[in-house]
Amino acid sequence: MPASYKIATAAMMILTLTGCAVAVLSPTPMPPTVTPVPPTGTPTPVAASSPTAVSQPSLPTKEKGDADSAEAIVKELVATKLEAMKAKDIQRYLALINETDKEYYTEQRNWFLIYQDAVTSDFTIEVIKAEKINDTTIVASLYQHYLYGPEKADRRVTYEERFIKTPNGWKDADLNFKAKETPHFVVKYQGEVEANAVQVCEEAEKAYVSVVKELGLEPHDKTTLKLFADQEMLRQNTDIRVAYLFNGWAEDGESIKMYARRERATIAPLTAHELTHKITLGISDSLNSWLAEGLVIYFGSRPFRGGNVLLELWTTITSWRRPPSSIALWLAP
Ligand SMILES: [Zn+2]
Repeated sequence: MPASYKIATAAMMILTLTGCAVAVLSPTPMPPTVTPVPPTGTPTPVAASSPTAVSQPSLPTKEKGDADSAEAIVKELVATKLEAMKAKDIQRYLALINETDKEYYTEQRNWFLIYQDAVTSDFTIEVIKAEKINDTTIVASLYQHYLYGPEKADRRVTYEERFIKTPNGWKDADLNFKAKETPHFVVKYQGEVEANAVQVCEEAEKAYVSVVKELGLEPHDKTTLKLFADQEMLRQNTDIRVAYLFNGWAEDGESIKMYARRERATIAPLTAHELTHKITLGISDSLNSWLAEGLVIYFGSRPFRGGNVLLELWTTITSWRRPPSSIALWLAP
């Protein structure tokens, strides 16, 4: 993709500090997962090679002895991941990812490109415990720590990751999400926020009805919403370069990601906001950020607020002075 495309795409990544989310965009009218998507979250040039060209992994597949215990398997995967990160070797990194989950694969590719652009040190991942749930599934508790930026901000998270056995070896299959489905969404969530996920299932459908009515367009497929139990986990799974914590994030070809512990009344407006981004950016993923956000405020957010969004000061001039990759919207609570 031309550099200008990437810059424009980065400008469309929108975050929300207080209530809402971020935005972004993934095409709806076309299957985003099949098409190589540029790393929208980063100004760094996209890897020239095809994202679908997954190199063959060199992961453990044997089944006997201590070396094949769940913990040993995960430790080897984690060690390989850290080596790939240290070497800035995206193909080796992506070889660890479950490529059959196209959305997660795209998210991980974009994450790695962001990581390459970030300044981190002492990046470590420790395996706290790992357990085989069945012959082809391991769930591991991992502790991740690193220092970010010249100030060496201390960032640490503990989370459950799922690994699955494939014909090409064991692969990282995303956080150990649980999932619920509604007519128009797949809601994936960390187990501790199940009550929030139940609310999201109901509120997201209200958002869907509103967006389709106002915009006159709808996604071709179900939209994946990923819910995170804390905001640091959300940042770790999106753009680690962002200096502050936020409530939502989405990018072209990716799921919509949200902080789960939100007031119920904010869920439908937030989902409508993000869903409108997904649909409009599916039509054109090179919209200027002001146009992308304007369309979304009008067709997605306004129906839940009413009135003139500008007079209500939903956004401020200050918010638009932020760098394109971190445009923030201050939405009324
Ligand atoms: Zn937005």
